[in-house]
Amino acid sequence: MEIAICPKCNDQEGIVKSGIVNNKQRYLCKRCAYHFTVRKVGKKIDNYYIVKAIQLYLEGLSLREIERVLGVSHSTISNWIKKYNIRKPDLNVYDPTYKIVTFEEMQAFLSNRDVYTDKGVIITELGSKFLVIRWNKAGGN
Ligand SMILES: [Zn+2]
Repeated sequence: MEIAICPKCNDQEGIVKSGIVNNKQRYLCKRCAYHFTVRKVGKKIDNYYIVKAIQLYLEGLSLREIERVLGVSHSTISNWIKKYNIRKPDLNVYDPTYKIVTFEEMQAFLSNRDVYTDKGVIITELGSKFLVIRWNKAGGN
């Protein structure tokens, strides 16, 4: 499932694909009936997506995973990484997993110490929701 965020109402659950315009995927937000493409806002790429994509890249997500989370194509993300000359430190001893959650789910997550004790956790906002990234030592549990 592909996840895009409505730039008008920040919804991300009622988003459906709605054709291709100028080689870009067009989406329809069923909640507010707004049509949008996620790669560009007017002629300029929305800085929000650039910052989020680079953050996620540095957290160890693959370009394909970032594409799934943000709805921005992996080749666009790859271009941003080159443009801003981003170099990722070697993180291959860790195995990141990620999950998009609501505010309530995030609170439930944080109230259970066992799920993050001895693990690395980063929570970042993503539209109206939150992205939880968790690292396990590779080969551990
Ligand atoms: Zn909307």
